[in-house]
Amino acid sequence: MAPTPDAFAPWTHTRLAALNAQFEPRSPKVVLDWAADTFGDDLVQGTGFGPSGIVIMHMLADLQPGTTVFYLDTDLLFPETYELKDELAETVDVDVTRVHGGLSLEEQAQQEGEELWNQNPDRCCHLRKVKPLKNFLEDKRAWITGLRRDQSPSRADAPILKWEPQCSVLKINPLAPWTRKQVWRYLFDHDLPYNPKHDQGYPSLGCVPCTEPVDDADGYSRDGRWSDSDKTECGLHTS
Ligand code: SF4
Repeated sequence: MAPTPDAFAPWTHTRLAALNAQFEPRSPKVVLDWAADTFGDDLVQGTGFGPSGIVIMHMLADLQPGTTVFYLDTDLLFPETYELKDELAETVDVDVTRVHGGLSLEEQAQQEGEELWNQNPDRCCHLRKVKPLKNFLEDKRAWITGLRRDQSPSRADAPILKWEPQCSVLKINPLAPWTRKQVWRYLFDHDLPYNPKHDQGYPSLGCVPCTEPVDDADGYSRDGRWSDSDKTECGLHTS
């Protein structure tokens, strides 16, 4: 029987468990420093320019200036998100890179029907996020995310390091143990910009049609995403 791609991964459960135990009490910067040393140019960060992603960008710019920081452009992000992206690209020493699936909204409407996000959000996320991500990560070895355990119940067990079978990369979640309060303290301490929509009741910002403001300011950081359905993830973090 042909071996699965995982069989070629050097990241055995034992090795990952040992590294995770070592990193758990350490600063996220220690994790990123290790990642930069280990992967060099094969290391990329993915972000939607949320608070966690901005903290990581800032740390990476110090540790390995010029690191590729990609965002998935669904053509449906908030105008404020695009403006923040431009500001960060100008002021933080990383290489902000647009990743797009090549399918325009008009083409999607012709092929799949109008407003696919209402009819079949999983399919929409697959076409506009998951598929482009997989293509982009094809020749990469490590993918940094801003995922944190306190963002939602489905993320409560997120490890710092995890082999990602969907994309055959090591997924690195340096802020997994951090709280929302720690992230915001870092942003304010370093005078970093953030999306103004967070001050208007949006704890998390994705695509415009699937993101709502929330009443409970003390809820989860992912509240407000697909709020009228059971969907909690776009498929990027569900393996
Ligand atoms: S978040 Fe909504 S609009 Fe964006 S890709 Fe997913 S379903 Fe489509």
